Amino acid sequence: MRIHRLDPDVVSKVAATEIIGSPVNALKEILENSLDAGATNIEIAVKDGGFKLLQVTDNGDGIDQEDLAILCERHTTSKLKTIKDLETMDTLGFRGEALASISHISHVSVVSKTKQARTATRAEYEAGKMTSQKPIAGVQGTVIAIKDLFFNTPSRVKALKGRSNEEYQKILDVVCRYAINYAGTFSCRRDNSGQPYVIAGATAKDKIRRVYGPSVANDLIEINLEGDESIGLKSVSGYVSNADYFSKKGANFIFFVNDRLVSSEALRRGIQKLYSQYVPKGAFPFVFLSLKIESDRIDVNVHPSKREVRILDETEVVDTVVAGIEQYLSNQDAGRKYKVQS
Ligand code: ADP
Ligand code: MG
Repeated sequence: MRIHRLDPDVVSKVAATEIIGSPVNALKEILENSLDAGATNIEIAVKDGGFKLLQVTDNGDGIDQEDLAILCERHTTSKLKTIKDLETMDTLGFRGEALASISHISHVSVVSKTKQARTATRAEYEAGKMTSQKPIAGVQGTVIAIKDLFFNTPSRVKALKGRSNEEYQKILDVVCRYAINYAGTFSCRRDNSGQPYVIAGATAKDKIRRVYGPSVANDLIEINLEGDESIGLKSVSGYVSNADYFSKKGANFIFFVNDRLVSSEALRRGIQKLYSQYVPKGAFPFVFLSLKIESDRIDVNVHPSKREVRILDETEVVDTVVAGIEQYLSNQDAGRKYKVQS
């Protein structure tokens, strides 16, 4: 076989399905855009596990009408300018690739209005290009609708066939996690069915109660650790289950680093090991932690999904966090022993 140049359309679809592997990846991207826009009220609508519709309505800054023409082109962003900016990224997005990718494998429509604009604008997109634009009535904020995800990538549709339920659960899980870390009200509506699922509350604990129930919320310790300048750790806050909490369902770890939802194997392992000294065998902890780290000490540009961040001095950071949580757990333990003795 001779080597030939791939058709640009094929290149775009291959790249898009790499970034957007399933509906939850698309939802996470547009949810993060709303959070980057400072939204405090976010309404999500999902049809057929996200294959038919993924829609996010926010009350954020909105998109300037003149920017709509390039919104879904590749590498267009309002967040990153120079390579140096990557060292101190404080937004969730920065690559300007998400909406472009999504528009190659779905039908995207946008309604947006900035504070200054007199009217809202509705725009539609196919394969990176805006195909129509018109003024319509609307309030400040943005509605992004993704329809018929993967309609033109048959192999992906086949691979995900019949997974509508699982996909919805994954979407709801990401929404709930973000809702716990961010102030504001989040709601998720499935297939136009009845009332949407609303996650609201004044504190992260209120939201944990809403999502995971009183059996979790009643056995939580509030964590507030001072940072350690020498390793760039500014603060650690959150809620962790106490030694009385007994879940057999498996551990639930929710980690945010600089308000970005991440998975950290190192943190997970360290904390799991700590709990094994305080809870009976077969019991698993609930852990929600928000770490603030000097932004020039973390690398967010590890993977397109941005699920991982690289932390400088990771071992020391994990040790500090684990030691901090241990203080709380051992205090509780000491309190219990005291009660038993007296
Ligand atoms: P990135 O988030 O990496 O910049 P995206 O493709 O996700 O790339 O979005 C491109 C741009 O579109 C963003 O930089 C932002 O300016 C704008 N945008 C997207 N969604 C919203 C939204 N909900 N509110 C305001 N601006 C948005
Ligand atoms: Mg983005």
